[in-house]
Amino acid sequence: MKEIKIAQLRISTWRRAKDLVRLRLFDLRDGSDWSVETAIIAGRKSGPMITVVAGQHGDEWNGIFIAHRLFEEIEHQDIEGTLVILPIANPYAFLQKSRISIMDQVDMNRSYGTDGERRPTSMAANTLFDEIFLKSSYVIDLHSGGPGDYIANTGVMEQGRFGLALHFNTGNVIVAHKDHGTLVAAAERNSIPAFSLQLGHAASIDYDACEKMLKGIMNFFRAVRLIPEPPQTDEGQQLFTDKKLLPAPDSGFVILNVGLGDDVEAGQNIGEIEPLFGTPIDVIAPESGRVLYARYEPIVSRGDSVIHLGRLGELKDRTSGRDLG
Ligand SMILES: [Zn+2]
Repeated sequence: MKEIKIAQLRISTWRRAKDLVRLRLFDLRDGSDWSVETAIIAGRKSGPMITVVAGQHGDEWNGIFIAHRLFEEIEHQDIEGTLVILPIANPYAFLQKSRISIMDQVDMNRSYGTDGERRPTSMAANTLFDEIFLKSSYVIDLHSGGPGDYIANTGVMEQGRFGLALHFNTGNVIVAHKDHGTLVAAAERNSIPAFSLQLGHAASIDYDACEKMLKGIMNFFRAVRLIPEPPQTDEGQQLFTDKKLLPAPDSGFVILNVGLGDDVEAGQNIGEIEPLFGTPIDVIAPESGRVLYARYEPIVSRGDSVIHLGRLGELKDRTSGRDLG
């Protein structure tokens, strides 16, 4: 595979082709380097540049598989513009099959805009940001739920992105206002529309759900004219204006009696936690909402998220005037 130093990358003038390159970000102190396999698909005409990134968290394999399938599905003759695919942004965490790597224990998707910190993972994040994400028309960041299952969803920073986010056809659009140094937040600070697509849980691949999300991403490509065909966007998708995390009141074995997509009421018993050598404790929903994330691992530590509850919102779709609430 051809190797290119990231400073020498010229995506805007890439020859019209479908290429794989090994993108070299920087050297590490032991003589090894931080490199990422990168697919660049440059279309037959000019158009938007879209970057799809996965594997910022090394144990979230649904996104890595979707990136792999995107490369299989899209030919340079099919598109007008440029598609950049970074399937494994954090190769060191991926080698360890864990969210973060032991190299520096930095969470890559919490390190955007942290200029002061010169650790390898945050350097990789910020180098990719300056050289690729910042030059993109749209950024799509793929994740899974770690120790819990996520309902397929599209995360955005503000309700203004709802219209575009619908084209992913995940059925659920979540507005998460908080900025913890994520890629999506950093991109939006630079006015680049950015979307976090989440699916399933860590260390697993749900192939059917991945195919559905792949189709949704390709529908988005149609909506923004990377693929010059009309999009087919589902009606009746749900907007969530906020998300509430329910922390485990104690450590122990957890059993939930609600599942993904269930609507729960404030005060409802949603399961129990049985502490080691203790008696079970009820877990109570703090407010009403829909279950968007549910613990998959059967053991929790005090303070771990047990479920995430989405607050149902309503918004007129500005593009069509349909009420999608
Ligand atoms: Zn993640």
